Amino acid sequence: MPRLRNFADRLAQTWLLLELLRGLRITARYLFRRKFTVHYPEEHTPQSPRFRGLHALRRYPNGEERCIACKLCESVCPALAITIESEQRPDGTRRTTRYDIDLFKCIYCGFCEEACPTDAIVMTREIEFHMVARYESIATKEMLLAFGDRKEAEIAADRAADARFR
Ligand code: SF4
Ligand code: SF4
Repeated sequence: MPRLRNFADRLAQTWLLLELLRGLRITARYLFRRKFTVHYPEEHTPQSPRFRGLHALRRYPNGEERCIACKLCESVCPALAITIESEQRPDGTRRTTRYDIDLFKCIYCGFCEEACPTDAIVMTREIEFHMVARYESIATKEMLLAFGDRKEAEIAADRAADARFR
């Protein structure tokens, strides 16, 4: 008997278009409400100062690279996306000779940024980037530094906004 009742219910739902009417009721309910559609790329959703977009390497105000080649970011990276080579300068300081991030491997977890003792490697708000070939996924030290130079004002403001939580 329960099976017969289920069958009758299903038949009634289909013939009386109950499911369609339920759907239309929801459409009618939202028809005149405020729309949440974002017209990207003209409009953007708000971003947090902690947003984890494209990486950048920073410099100190005197132009010196912040990165001291300690390789903490390389060792903490769960995706093995960072490759660093370094050498000692004549003045005894150590700096990278190579700093590559494979953006295909990167999972944008932010561990590198968290591990960095000098705030050298940071993640920016940049999301509008793409590659069309495999080799283009490698962000080199020169690219990361140049991007950091371009974004320094925004990066510094985001760090200042987040400073009391770090
Ligand atoms: S964001 Fe995460 S996965 Fe990407 S380079 Fe940094 S530590 Fe590695
Ligand atoms: S970016 Fe930071 S954590 Fe990575 S090697 Fe340079 S100083 Fe060390």
